[in-house]
Amino acid sequence: MKYVEEIMEKVVKSNPGQKEFHQAVQEVLNSISVVIEKHEEEYRELKLLERLVEPERSHTFRVTWVDSNGKIQVNRGYRVQFSSAIGPYKGGLRFHPSVNQSIINFLGFEQIFKNALTGQSIGAGKGGSDFDPRGKNDIDIMNFCQSFIIELEKYIGPNEDVPAGDIGVGSKEIGYMYGMYKKLTHRYEGALTGKSLFCGGSLVRTEATGYGLAYIVEEMLRAKGEAISGKKVVVSGSGNVATYAIEKVTQLGGVVLTASDSSGYIYDANGIKVDILKEIKEVRRGRIKEYCDLVPTAVFVPDKKAWEVPCDIALPCAVQNELQIDDAKQLISNGCMTVAEGANMPTTPEAVSYLQDNGVMFMPGKAANAGGVAVSSLEMSQNGIRKNRSFDDVDNELKLIMKSIYTEVSQAAKEYGHEGNYVMGANIAGFRKVAKAMREQGNV
Ligand code: NDP
Repeated sequence: MKYVEEIMEKVVKSNPGQKEFHQAVQEVLNSISVVIEKHEEEYRELKLLERLVEPERSHTFRVTWVDSNGKIQVNRGYRVQFSSAIGPYKGGLRFHPSVNQSIINFLGFEQIFKNALTGQSIGAGKGGSDFDPRGKNDIDIMNFCQSFIIELEKYIGPNEDVPAGDIGVGSKEIGYMYGMYKKLTHRYEGALTGKSLFCGGSLVRTEATGYGLAYIVEEMLRAKGEAISGKKVVVSGSGNVATYAIEKVTQLGGVVLTASDSSGYIYDANGIKVDILKEIKEVRRGRIKEYCDLVPTAVFVPDKKAWEVPCDIALPCAVQNELQIDDAKQLISNGCMTVAEGANMPTTPEAVSYLQDNGVMFMPGKAANAGGVAVSSLEMSQNGIRKNRSFDDVDNELKLIMKSIYTEVSQAAKEYGHEGNYVMGANIAGFRKVAKAMREQGNV
C-alpha cells in the first residue's frame, strides 16, 4: 500500500467520525503524494507523515460561566497545538455551536500549511468552543470569554501559542480575553492577536484576511492579463472576512453583488455598500436582511445561496463546505471563471474537482485567506518590540506577502507538472517548508 494511503487509513482509524478532519487530511495527502513518492524511503524512516497528522498536543476543557440571568452555563473549550516546526503555535479561536474536535482538528491541520506559506515564523494551532455568541448580550459574552481564558491561559504565551479570532470571535471577544489574561499573568504581552488598537493591536489586522483575498485574486487575474476592475463578484458571508473582501474588491473596481448569512443572501445590482454593511454587522450586530431596509432597491433571498447569481468571480467567505457540487455546476453554467476561498475549506472536494476540470482558476483557503494570520504575525513582532507600524506600511507588506504566496503556489504546481493547479501548489509549497524544518529538528 502507498505511504499516503497507509497514513489516511491511520487517521480515519484513530480519529473516528471526524469527517472534516479526514477531508482536510485527504486533500493534503492527495496533493503531496507526488513529493512523497520522490522521498518515500526517507520520510517513512523519519515517520514524517505519521508526525504531521498527529497534533503535538490537544487540550479540551470545561468552561463553566454565569450568564446575565445568574444561571450557571457549561460549554466545552478546545485548543489543538498541531505543529511548532516553524514557530509558536498560531491560529484562531472559533465560537460557534457547531464546534467539535473534528472542526478544530481540520482547522489546526490546514493552519500548518497556511502559516508556512506566509513566510513568517509561525507554527499551527486552533481552538474555540461550542458557545454561541449570537443573540447574547455583552455581559454574557464577557463572562464566557473570561471563563474560557482562565483555562486557556495555562497553555498560551507570546513564544508558545498565540491565538487570534475566527468565526464568532472579533476584537471585542479578544479584548475581554486579553484583559483576563493580563490579570492572571501580570504581563502585558502579545499572547493574543486581533486585539483592538487600544490594547496593542495592529493596523490592518481587521481588514487583513479580506484584503489579502482580494490581493491574491488580483494576482491570479494579472497572470491572465486581466484585473478585478469591472468584474461581477459574488461573496458569501457578512462577517469579518466577507466585509473586508467586499471593501477591497469594490476599491479595486469590482462590483460585489451579494453578501449572506445563515438565513439567506442579499442581492444589490448596484454593488454592496460597505458602509451600510458595516453599520448593520459591526455596529448593530444585526442580520444581513436588514440591509434591504436601508437600501430598498436591494432584495433579500431567504434560505438560498448566493452561488445562483451570475458572476465572473466567486468568493466563499462564510463556513466549511458551503459551496457544493450543484453550486459549482451553477457557477460554471453562469460563466464564473475564478473562485478563491476566503473561508477555510468552504468548497467540497467534488466541487473543487468540478471547477478545476471546467477551467476555473481555483485558489484554496490556505493560500487565499492567509493574509489574516500573516498580519497577526506582524502584530506579534510589533508587540515584541513595542513599536507600532502605520496602516500603509502594514498594508504594503500584506500585499507583498500575498504576491509571494501566489508566486510560490503557482511555481510549486508548475514544478511538479500541474501548472495552474493551485490546490496542489499550496499544499506542496507549505509541506516542503514544514518537512524541512521537521527533518532538521530530529525526532521530536
Ligand atoms: P464571522 O463570525 O465574522 O462571520 C461568519 C459569517 O459566516 C457570518 O456571516 C455567518 O452568518 C456566516 N455563517 C456561519 N455559519 C454559516 C452557515 N452554516 N451557513 C451560512 N453562513 C454561515 O467569521 P469570519 O468572517 O472571521 O470567518 C469566516 C470564515 O473565514 C471562516 O471559515 C474562518 O475560519 C475563515 N477565516 C477567518 C479569518 C479571520 O481573520 N477572521 C482568517 C482566515 C480564515 P451567521 O451570523 O448567520 O452565522
